[in-house]
Parts: sequence; C-alpha cells; structure tokens
Amino acid sequence: MAIDRRNFLGTAFSGAALAASGGLFSSFRSESHSGRRHTKLKISCQEGVAPGKELNEKLDFIESLGIVGIEFGGRGLEKRIDEIQLALKNRKLKVSAICAGFEGWLISDDPAIQKKCMDSMKVILGAAGQLGSTGVIFVPAFNNQKSLPDKEARELLIAQMQELGEYALQNKTRILLEPLNREECYFCRQVADGAAIVRDVNNAGAAVMGDFWHMTREETNDRAAFLSAGDYLHHVHIASRKRRKMPGEDGEADNYTNGFRGLKEINYQDFVSFECGSVGDSKITLPAAVKLMNEQWKKA
Ligand code: MG
Repeated sequence: MAIDRRNFLGTAFSGAALAASGGLFSSFRSESHSGRRHTKLKISCQEGVAPGKELNEKLDFIESLGIVGIEFGGRGLEKRIDEIQLALKNRKLKVSAICAGFEGWLISDDPAIQKKCMDSMKVILGAAGQLGSTGVIFVPAFNNQKSLPDKEARELLIAQMQELGEYALQNKTRILLEPLNREECYFCRQVADGAAIVRDVNNAGAAVMGDFWHMTREETNDRAAFLSAGDYLHHVHIASRKRRKMPGEDGEADNYTNGFRGLKEINYQDFVSFECGSVGDSKITLPAAVKLMNEQWKKA
C-alpha cells in the first residue's frame, strides 16, 4: 500500500520540521533549511561529570574544551545561587538545565507526597530562574514509586504541569519532562509520548527533553523522536549507548548522527548535556567525547 508520506507527516510534525524532513526515513537532506544553517551544537556538562575538585576548576576545564553549558543538580540549589553566579562571572558558560532534586513524586497515590513534590519543585524552579536555566528536569515517578493507575496519573500530571509550568514561566524558566527507559520508569518512555503530554498541558512553561541513553532502549529512530517533539523539546542528555559512559567509550555504538540531524531539522536551540560516567580518566575521555560529538554534528 502506498503511503502518502506528506499527509502522514503532516499529522504529527510542525511545519518547519515537515518542510525539512523530505520524508521521515529518506536520506534526503535539505541543506537550504534555515535550521541546518543556524542550529549550533551547544554542549553542556553536568557538574558531577566535569573533572576537578572545586567548581572553578571544573568550569576552567570544560570551558577550555568549548563546552558552553553547565548543568547542576536541583537539591539545595537555592542555597548555591551566590556561589554559582560568582563562579560564572566573566565566563561564557551558562547554566543549562537543572536536574531534579525535588522530594516525593508527582503521580503518587498519596496526595501528601504529591504536594511535597509540587512544593519542593517550586523552590527549585525559583532558583533555576534566578540562574537563567533552560528548565528543571523531572520524572513523574520511577518504577519503585507507588503511583496512580496510568489514566488517572496522566490526568493528574497534566493539571500539575499546568500549575508548575505557569509558576516556571513567572520565574522565566520551564519544567522539563524526561522520558526514561522501562528499567527506570514505565509511565513515560518515549520522547513523542512526553511531547504529547506537553501538548495537552499547553503552557509555554512546560516542555519535554530527550536522553540518548534512554532513547537507545526505547526509540525506533532518534531523528523521528526529536522531530515528533519539535518545538516542545528544550533539553537533551547524552551518554555512551551501551554502558552510559562517556560518548565514544562504547565504540561504534556511539553514533548520534541521526539524532543530531533531527535536532538540526527542528532548529533546536538548547543544550546537549553530558549525563554519564567514564571508564577512563575523564580528563582524557571528555575532550575525546566533545571531539566525537562535533564531528558527528558536522556530518548530520
Ligand atoms: Mg537523563
């Protein structure tokens, strides 16, 4: 049966992505698409991934590699604002996303746990906004966290994300829903599913992110996953694809080109951030990973 690709794509993709895609699985490349010319790879690094004992030592090192973003954990962030602002003074580095750090979980079957989560997320959102962060990453619940049945959970989550998204907007940041692989969270596993939740939330303070590590397990096509999220996508995590180490440490498996092509096609403007361990010395493996990412970005 012949598939009308244009109609098929038209139901799921933004106009810009549609114009650029030339068919989702074709090898067609639209060099003239503005996103391909103007989308830059902005690499970020989680604080814990950067080598060094003190924050300034870490920042000096990653800055020397051309990394332009730094991702902090959310726990206690409100007490670190002065320290972080001082360390970033006179540097090109910006705060990318803030990773979790709240208490409880949103789709708990216990309203007290839901409330604890909402309240603690708002504290982190306030701090994230002061630091100019892209958004605060959250997972609705991990597999070991007792939660409402899926249908009730989704309805509750949308209402919670509307409230948190509004609060985030007032603080000039976002909430970032992170889909995880089935080992960690069954509720939301694919970027498209997260994007559909964000579409239903319908608030500019609510967005989705993608993590290559989880995507390796759950997605059929990285590029398609990012195209499906389009303008709803505001952060990306990266790691090696077999062991969640430094990109490149899993050899041939560490290919991100197809996903990078998708990011170019949606004119992605946010960061791609290291969330990974390292088998080797990160003073050596981190520069190698940056090199690999830049090479693959160029090819994409
Ligand atoms: Mg992640």
